[in-house]
Amino acid sequence: MESLLSRAAGHDGCPKNMEYGPCGGVGFDGSCEVGDFRCVFLDDPLVTWRGGAPAESEAVRRSSGAAEMMALMTTRPIVVADFPAKAMDAESLTECAALLAGPVDAALAGDAGTARVQFSPSYRASLIRAAGLQVWTGLNCRDRNRVAIEGELAGLAHIGVAGVHCVTGDHTLLGSRPDAAPVFDLDSSQLAALSRAAGHLVSVGESPTTPPVELRAARLLEKTRAGADVCFVNHCGGVDAVGRFVRESHDLGVTAAFIPCVPMVTDHGSARLLQSFPSLVLPDGYLERILSAEGPREEGIRAAVALSLELLEIEGVAGVNLSGGAGAGHEAEFAIALAETAQRLAL
Ligand code: SF4
Repeated sequence: MESLLSRAAGHDGCPKNMEYGPCGGVGFDGSCEVGDFRCVFLDDPLVTWRGGAPAESEAVRRSSGAAEMMALMTTRPIVVADFPAKAMDAESLTECAALLAGPVDAALAGDAGTARVQFSPSYRASLIRAAGLQVWTGLNCRDRNRVAIEGELAGLAHIGVAGVHCVTGDHTLLGSRPDAAPVFDLDSSQLAALSRAAGHLVSVGESPTTPPVELRAARLLEKTRAGADVCFVNHCGGVDAVGRFVRESHDLGVTAAFIPCVPMVTDHGSARLLQSFPSLVLPDGYLERILSAEGPREEGIRAAVALSLELLEIEGVAGVNLSGGAGAGHEAEFAIALAETAQRLAL
């Protein structure tokens, strides 16, 4: 394990102590999410992966959940959905999971800027699994050091989650708990390596429209060298932008499966929540069309289905992630809309 993760000190001046930066917190103008300065990685060459290759840990068998999801992905495209339940509310978690179970192949249950304190990832995953829904667990490097993360990864493998989505995570100065100390013992690439060594199906995110735009595909290649199997493509403007990024990645030799995010908006509350996502780029007029429609819910579902079908035409796209969240108090309603969207996709 140590050979995978032994790390030099992070980059001077990076508030997250990242070695394999930049993080997802770079603004479109190159600014750092933490303060009024330029991201320290932007004027440097690409940082290549220096840890061990995943092949070294192939002796580690994939978890049951990973093996099942990998098998499913060979048969058809998958539908993942952001998990809309209230934080730390077992009843809401169970209700939303039951509503999504069936049409949705897995819920992406991760971080939320509005509710940094969540049940621990493995406990949350076990609640969702118990309600009959598979989980793709989001893990960040902000809230736990590598030892605590190793414990969570072991728990998640035992539960049999479908995948682990590895992110560095927003800084604590953003979101609902600026009083907490940030950890950042690891970054997303190192977390990908650790998750792969623990037997998980590993995903990472990339934002093709965020600086350094010209290095985004090459960064993904390095993340796959660390252990990533799947790339969730953050909202980057629609079919053309996703297609360009996938082709550019393929040209560099990336073999990961791609799951682009599809914006889910059904009302003003969910629109506001989506607009809080960092590095968000939506297709031209997308939100405006939905919110000005006579029936925004129906228009939002129709738009998500249409965009999903177009994205699935791109070679290398293995599924879609219905991405967004509910306005406060509308979690179950939003879960029903997600399920209905997935049902209409019927992949
Ligand atoms: S944007 Fe991220 S990687 Fe860049 S300096 Fe800030 S915290 Fe570090």
